[in-house]
Amino acid sequence: ATMARTFFVGGNWKCNGTKDSIATLCSTWKESGAGVAGGPVEVVIAPPSVYAVSAAASLPDGYQVSLQNTWTGKGGAFTGELSAEMAKDCGINWVILGHSERRHIPTIAESDETVATKVAYALGAGLKVIACIGEQLEEREAGNTNAVNERQLAAIAAKVTDWTNVVIAYEPVWAIGTGKVATPDQAQEVHAALRAWLSANVSPSVASSVRILYGGSVSAKNCNELAGKEDVDGFLVGGASLKPEFTAIVDSHK
Ligand code: PGA
Repeated sequence: ATMARTFFVGGNWKCNGTKDSIATLCSTWKESGAGVAGGPVEVVIAPPSVYAVSAAASLPDGYQVSLQNTWTGKGGAFTGELSAEMAKDCGINWVILGHSERRHIPTIAESDETVATKVAYALGAGLKVIACIGEQLEEREAGNTNAVNERQLAAIAAKVTDWTNVVIAYEPVWAIGTGKVATPDQAQEVHAALRAWLSANVSPSVASSVRILYGGSVSAKNCNELAGKEDVDGFLVGGASLKPEFTAIVDSHK
């Protein structure tokens, strides 16, 4: 992390939670007194969409709310979808797009192109976007880590003109939900490569200002060492964002 970029911690609740579990978690976070948002750290929680509005009222002060997906149109005959405009209308200013589960679960199977189209649409509708990329284990083992991440980022870059409202989340698929966190050096290496790619292919100023988060088995135990790496500007947290320890991850910028 560096003072030049505001540290960012996202919590991705995925398809988890009940009204009761969310109320309990939010009051535990508030009572702990830790994990205060604002100033040097931005905190954004993505509940399942039906809970997003009520969760916004229960979360600690300063915590923002995100959706986990949005559609590429304003509204209309798209049964089952949610528009970026509807999120804005409900006071939700963020969306996670291109999460590995949406790319790789076979019945969802979003392509690089679909993800990029969704990112561009959401930005155009005024949402801020956490755009996720990441290589699978076979791709890493074949030596294709940077090529895969750059391909996914290039698809997004082809459709994005203003990067102000974009946060990139680098989430190696082999680290998501597996307990196998990337080492701080592995994360730093990819983050630095992504920043170099942005500098060469978008602009040096975008490369130096865009936040690049690490995601994949981040926990209270491993977050401080990862946060110590220059190009790790925060985290996207899954499992640990459903637990009391999340506030320690928010505090890892300190
Ligand atoms: P995890 O998930 O922290 O449970 O590995 C991260 C994510 O999918 O964003």
